[in-house]
Amino acid sequence: MCVECDEAIYNPICPSCLVKEISVWLKKYPRLWRKVIIELNRYITQALRLYKSATKCVACGNNTTFLCPYCFTAYTLQVLKNNKASKIVLREFVELFNFDFEHTNEEFWPNN
Ligand SMILES: [Zn+2]
Ligand SMILES: [Zn+2]
Repeated sequence: MCVECDEAIYNPICPSCLVKEISVWLKKYPRLWRKVIIELNRYITQALRLYKSATKCVACGNNTTFLCPYCFTAYTLQVLKNNKASKIVLREFVELFNFDFEHTNEEFWPNN
């Protein structure tokens, strides 16, 4: 179960594994990369202290999937916005990491 949306996680890739992928992409924007990755890692470390037996991640095999990929990418989008990422960066992020399989959240799309 995802601690944020309370739904079963059908595509359990944990936040730590997602951060690795996000980090590879975000390196193009070093200033943003430094701030955002530090903030995401801090969030994950704190959350994992609270949620010790989360869903098993299909990528790394650890029981660390406390958030579904959708909720984690939504959180990351918020962190990017808080760090004043440009619209180009936000759009790239959504295109690359769109885990919105079954949710339809219009706010998620940063094109207004
Ligand atoms: Zn969720
Ligand atoms: Zn993982």
